[in-house]
Amino acid sequence: MQIMQQLSSHIHYLTPVQETDRPILGAITGTRSTLLVDAGNSAAHIQLFIDQLVKLDISPRWVVLTHWHWDHVFGMNQANTTIIAQTLTTEYIRTMQGLSWDDEALDQRVEQGTEIEFCASAIKKEYVEERDIVLPTPDITFDRKLELDLGRVHCVVEHVGGDHSNDSTVVYVKEDKVLFAGDALYPNIHVEPNEYTAEQALKLVNKLRHFDADQVVLSHHADIWNGERFRHELDMLERVAQLVQQPMPEEQAITRQLEEHYGRQLNEWEQETIILFLNGQRRQQSAEAMTESDSQPSGV
Ligand SMILES: [Zn+2]
Repeated sequence: MQIMQQLSSHIHYLTPVQETDRPILGAITGTRSTLLVDAGNSAAHIQLFIDQLVKLDISPRWVVLTHWHWDHVFGMNQANTTIIAQTLTTEYIRTMQGLSWDDEALDQRVEQGTEIEFCASAIKKEYVEERDIVLPTPDITFDRKLELDLGRVHCVVEHVGGDHSNDSTVVYVKEDKVLFAGDALYPNIHVEPNEYTAEQALKLVNKLRHFDADQVVLSHHADIWNGERFRHELDMLERVAQLVQQPMPEEQAITRQLEEHYGRQLNEWEQETIILFLNGQRRQQSAEAMTESDSQPSGV
């Protein structure tokens, strides 16, 4: 059951759905216009949000896509607004325009390794009958940063990248100190096992620290983070990224160092984060080892 919530004086959002991978959809309203954050995973999803907004006398003018993943863009056409996307997001959408989304095509891509089972099965659940997916090319493409004046409400739309997706973009609402982080803080789910890399995570933390946020919206989290939680998560990501770069990083040693620092036991998510970083470190090391062995002279 999705519920419309008011987050601050200018912001409404529709809660997420885990089973069909529906992310949170946001609406930021100024005196002159409304910006939507993400277009939803289907025409039905975005339409549900727009119907709720109409009841509040809000009509969206723009939608900004936080990244290219299907669950954030498949409702684009139905949004009936000007679509804003980062350069890479637009490129990915152009690639997706050439794909078909029926069961057979999805299964084939999962087998080839170009699609993951998690997304394929969520698409099948969201689109039980009709799967008429229309992906228009975004109207406005930006590279680094964009500022939007909605009328006494100002939004900064900024590309931050990261492990989850290199096109990840966040939306910061200045007057309300609210940050829509999209999926930027999540790990890379397109590799098995899922991972964070120290390099990407440190870059992301540095970019996100600039936002003075009192409330942070993560697309697939029903609970909204307060500023303190947000700063803790950035600090934790940074610490684990640094610890994993030590020679011969090891789960127990990193856990011990982190527990000593925080003066308490780690929670489940912090423990999981260490494993995700170790996955990234191991994959990179084995990729480097393979490159080195390729460059060795052979047959000597
Ligand atoms: Zn995503």
